[in-house]
Amino acid sequence: MTSDATRIRLLMELRRQGIGDLRVLSAMERMPREEFVPESFRDRAYENTALPIFAGQTISQPTVVAMMTQALQVGARMKVLEIGTGSGYQAAILSRLCRRVYSIERNRELLSAAEKSFKRLRLGNITTRLGDGSKGWPEQAPFERIIVTAAAAALPMTLAEQLGPGGIMVIPIGPTPIDQQLMRVTRTDAGFTTEDLGPVRFVPLISDLAEPLPARMERS
Ligand code: SAH
Repeated sequence: MTSDATRIRLLMELRRQGIGDLRVLSAMERMPREEFVPESFRDRAYENTALPIFAGQTISQPTVVAMMTQALQVGARMKVLEIGTGSGYQAAILSRLCRRVYSIERNRELLSAAEKSFKRLRLGNITTRLGDGSKGWPEQAPFERIIVTAAAAALPMTLAEQLGPGGIMVIPIGPTPIDQQLMRVTRTDAGFTTEDLGPVRFVPLISDLAEPLPARMERS
């Protein structure tokens, strides 16, 4: 099948799966996913599957990218923070929908490959940083939207606190890869509300932040 035909088939599949936001569909239609996958997987770029990138990481399945982007309700004037640049594909989609994307990746090799793709495609409104994204990007906060593309064990409050008033964060949360839910967290006057958007499967968010010791370890 030609690449155009597989691309159209993918778009139809996204619509069938309930992606109705035309801005999201159009951004996905126009962004060449093959630019973000390794050479050896180029012919599979428009299959609706996650694909391996470097360092044991994956470029998310198109359905998941579409679902998360739609759930984020991005506006054209917004500043969006992404944790887990990976291949750069999700950041590239967001860059077409908002004013500026700030994206943090902890793996140097992945980040430099993603940066090359942004340059090649002239996506000038993506700013990147190498480091631990669980700390957020305090110098640029607050953000209207935050998207986390790796799974956290629990809601990272450091990130939630970097949301502006009415801000939305979309994040997979769960203790193990087989027990993750995609959550939408909204900052309200009173605090935060959360919605469960369904089960997902992501690689873990690897945090360098010191976690408090569990109670039973403190006692021994
Ligand atoms: N958004 C990506 C998919 C990311 S896969 C895409 O569109 O291709 C998850 C990524 O999160 C991996 O690249 C992994 O290295 C990165 N990651 C994991 N923990 C992280 C952390 N604490 N800070 C920044 N990046 C992290």
